[in-house]
Amino acid sequence: MRKREETDYSIQFPVEIEQYERKIYDLKQLIEISKGLNSTLEYNILIDSILLTCMGQMQLLMAGIFLRKGIGNENYALHRNYKGFEIDHSVEYELEPDSQVVTFIERNFKCYTLEELEEGAGNDRSLSIIKMLNPCLIVPLMSKGILNGIIILGERITHKNFTESEKEYLLDIASLAGQAIHNASLYEMATTDMMTKLKIHHYFYTLLVEEVDRARRLSRPLSLIMADLDHFKVLNDTYGHQGGDMVLINVARIIRESIRQIDVASRYGGEEFAVILPGTEIHEALIVAERIRQHVDKSRVSYDEKELSVTISIGVTQFDPAQDTSKNTLIERADRALYISKRNGRNLVSFL
Ligand code: GH3
Ligand code: MG
Ligand code: MG
Repeated sequence: MRKREETDYSIQFPVEIEQYERKIYDLKQLIEISKGLNSTLEYNILIDSILLTCMGQMQLLMAGIFLRKGIGNENYALHRNYKGFEIDHSVEYELEPDSQVVTFIERNFKCYTLEELEEGAGNDRSLSIIKMLNPCLIVPLMSKGILNGIIILGERITHKNFTESEKEYLLDIASLAGQAIHNASLYEMATTDMMTKLKIHHYFYTLLVEEVDRARRLSRPLSLIMADLDHFKVLNDTYGHQGGDMVLINVARIIRESIRQIDVASRYGGEEFAVILPGTEIHEALIVAERIRQHVDKSRVSYDEKELSVTISIGVTQFDPAQDTSKNTLIERADRALYISKRNGRNLVSFL
């Protein structure tokens, strides 16, 4: 008797069973997404992972994310890894933390269409920034009860509206993503030199060990650039430490802007820098080094009604599996190349 009841149950409620199956499938997907998002603490990789997950799961053509800019600037800025959106490069896509729209999203943690957001929060400058991107859905990212980002989703391949269960599913993804972003931002802070926004010495060492290992295993090229500012003591003595700091910050910016996203620049010491260039032959690394040297040479920093300038000496080398048994020999060789640049008159690039 009981057995028959059970059999009837499955026949009687096929819709519910289909729903449960769907739910189990979604949960399994969420576990996989969680594994993916927790497998990296690197900001850029994580952002790509979040956006591509949303796009894949919801069949979207566009996705982007607004994130806190960081210490000293609480605005939410559109992260440069956005996908598909047409961007007007003369516009600063930033949302103010105390704007009506941000406070509204913070108070009501759910997904919104543009119309719902306008109706609930009212029109303000921050909403008009979101409107310029014309997203189909806006999804808040939260961590520890605090809004730490906003995902915007563009047109769907299917052109269908989002269902309620899809919105719930997106909120589940967003809560995993919000936590992953929180962890990544703590990691970023702990490994970044706040003055120059370059990686700290310890991070450089750890990464170099990993990259040397990878280059050896995969027989891939790897290059290293070491650089030191010329006569920086004189600059400090002439214009003061604060003027020196401004010059340092400017050089760090030039280095950041001269390298690819996969290259990693660090502040090796006070006014010394190192760049790890994975997958890069020495002739390519020399082009990067020369670009940095020229930009630094040409650049001027306005300070105390004066125009400060500096030059940089650079040493470049490539990992050689035959002679580089550890990261130390690689660093030593780049250092020796740097010393050759100093000895030959500074403002030069040398290689070994
Ligand atoms: P060289 O061309 O031989 O490298 O000459 P140099 O004067 O640059 O010599 P050195 O590299 O030995 O000196 C580094 C100077 O950089 C000494 C130190 O006061 C200054 N310095 C190190 N860190 C900072 C910093 O964070 N801010 C400022 N303003 N100066 C710094
Ligand atoms: Mg030095
Ligand atoms: Mg120096």
